[in-house]
Amino acid sequence: MFKKFIVANWKMHKTIKEALLFLEQFIPLVKDVDDREIGIAPTFLCIESVGKAIKNTNIKLCAQNAFYKNEGAYTGEISPSMLKDCGVEYVIIGHSERRKYFFESDEIINKKIRACIKEEMKVIFCIGETLEERQNNKTFDILKSQIIMGLKDIDMPDFINIAYEPVWAIGTGVVATESQIKEAHIFIKEQIKNLYGDSADKIRVLYGGSVTPENIKSIMTTENVDGVLVGGASLDALKFSKIVKYEKSI
Ligand code: PEP
Repeated sequence: MFKKFIVANWKMHKTIKEALLFLEQFIPLVKDVDDREIGIAPTFLCIESVGKAIKNTNIKLCAQNAFYKNEGAYTGEISPSMLKDCGVEYVIIGHSERRKYFFESDEIINKKIRACIKEEMKVIFCIGETLEERQNNKTFDILKSQIIMGLKDIDMPDFINIAYEPVWAIGTGVVATESQIKEAHIFIKEQIKNLYGDSADKIRVLYGGSVTPENIKSIMTTENVDGVLVGGASLDALKFSKIVKYEKSI
């Protein structure tokens, strides 16, 4: 059985100095946690410094994105092999902000997932419906097509984590209800079972969207939730440590 996975997505926040200050506070707060995995995805600019600071700790280095080629004339991009070289273990792929602001299609996301797995990094593959799609009863169609297209021709379930992130819950303060999370996670687990059979049990399904120290306990104890991806509330060391140690949170 796998450990639950709690991941910070810092998005475009923190200078190197701010990242190291966070870690000075955060590492001692979580040093005794060994029954769950903790990940931090800083900006690319911070990744080497953060990697050095968390070496030999219980925190895994994650990246927020990767390109799908290992080198070449792709101005501004960072390759999976470069991330691997920096000690990255997990790469977030297909975040809704990448889909929305950088026009990442399911086909591009699929290429990125394949390229990361080829470098033996695990992925945190993000899926989720917009508010409009939910209101038009399209949630399950969207989740299904994102899963089928994103995971096309990928037969390495051990390398996959899925983050269910309803777009309307990201950074809005509106958290999905327990029953919305539960039914989405059950649906996602059915879909991956169709793809991978019993091996689908190796895939963790995380929830993301306005997670806080106040709501973490009820989210983590919701059936079929194997972890969380946290944006805003992961920027503060104390708040994020409370999320990691959710049993003790209010
Ligand atoms: C995210 O960006 O993955 C996220 C879940 O953000 P927030 O926690 O701020 O809603």
